[in-house]
Amino acid sequence: MLTKVIAQSSVDHFRKWFERADKIVIVSHVSPDGDAIGSSLGLWHFLVSQNKDAYVVVPNGFPGFLKWMPGSKDVLLYDRYMAFADQLIAEADIICCLDFNALSRIGDMAGSVEASPARKILIDHHLYPDDFCRITISHPEISSTSELVFRLICRMGYFPDISREAAECIYTGMMTDTGGFSFNSNHPEIYYIISELLSKGIDKDEIYRKVYNTYSECRLRLMGHVLTRMKIYEECHSALLTLTVEEQNRFNYVKGDSEGFVNIPLSVKGVRFSCFLREDTERDVIKISLRSVGDFPCNKVAAGYFNGGGHLNASGGEFYGTMEEAAARFEEALKAFEPALRRDDL
Ligand code: 5GP
Ligand code: MN
Repeated sequence: MLTKVIAQSSVDHFRKWFERADKIVIVSHVSPDGDAIGSSLGLWHFLVSQNKDAYVVVPNGFPGFLKWMPGSKDVLLYDRYMAFADQLIAEADIICCLDFNALSRIGDMAGSVEASPARKILIDHHLYPDDFCRITISHPEISSTSELVFRLICRMGYFPDISREAAECIYTGMMTDTGGFSFNSNHPEIYYIISELLSKGIDKDEIYRKVYNTYSECRLRLMGHVLTRMKIYEECHSALLTLTVEEQNRFNYVKGDSEGFVNIPLSVKGVRFSCFLREDTERDVIKISLRSVGDFPCNKVAAGYFNGGGHLNASGGEFYGTMEEAAARFEEALKAFEPALRRDDL
C-alpha cells in the first residue's frame, strides 16, 4: 500500500476537470530530461487511453537515449512547430505543467501558457513552486515527477488503465531522476511502485540498457578527454570539469553527449561536490551543472554564483562570460563554502 502523499482535495479537483475535459496539453521544461519526458508521456498514454485529445509539448529537443520511449515521436517540439503548439495551448481545456516550478523554465512557451484560458495544474517535485496554476501538486520530498504522475493516476482510481507503455515511461523518469536508484531513492514506496510497474510487463533491465548503454563512440572519447582534464580540489572535496566549443567541435559533439558527465567525479573517493561547465553554442552562455552528495547544498552555489537553482544535490545555472571567468567564479564559490566543504566527516 502507498501512503497518500497528494492531498485528497487536489485529486478530487483534478478528477472533476479531467472528467469534463477533452483537449489536454502536457508541457515540460527546456532541454527535457528523462523525468520530464517520462512523466509527460506516462500521463499522455493514460489520457489517450481515456479517449482524451492529448498532446505533449516541450520547448526543444531531447536526447537520443530517450527516443525509444513509446510515444516519443508524438512529442511536439515548440521550437519547430510553434504556431501549431500555440494553437493547442490556446485551445486546451487543461494544461498539465510537469517537472518544473516556474514559467521561466519553459522558455519561449511561457507566454502562450500564461495567456491560455485553460485550467492549469502543476505536478512537480522542485522546491518553491511559483503560483501560476489553479491546482499545485508540489512534492519536493518525492524523487521524481513521474512517481507523482503514477500516484495521481492511482489515486484517481485508474491503476488498471495504466498500460505497459505508460509504465515504461513512468519507470524511466523514476530511474533517471535517481541516477538508476543511486540517489534520492531510499523511500521504500519507490520499490513498491516499481513492483506495480513490473506487474504491467515492463522490462526494467532492458530500460536500463536502452537509457544508459547507448553511448556513441564520440561521446565516450569526449568523456575520456574531459576526465583527463578534470581538476580536483582535494581539500574542498570538490571537482571541476569543463567543455569548450572548440573541444565540442573536435569530438563531433552532438546535443546530449555530455549528459551525466557532472556525476562522474563523485565516484572519486572523497569528492562530494562536482561542477561541470559547458559552453553552449546555441545560446552563447556557459551552462553550469552542479551535483553534491550528503547535505552540501549545491543549489545554494547555483543560486548565489550562477543565476540558477535546483535541488539540494542536483542544481544548475548559467554564466555569461568566458570559460576562464566561469571557472574563477566556481573557485570563488569554493572559497566561500570552504568551511562546509572541508569537513572530513564523510
Ligand atoms: P542539470 O544539471 O541536469 O542541467 O540540472 C539539474 C537541476 O538543476 C535541474 O533539474 C533543475 O532543477 C536545476 N537547474 C538546471 N539549470 C537551471 C537553471 O538555469 N536555473 C534554475 N533555476 N535551475 C536550474
Ligand atoms: Mn524531475
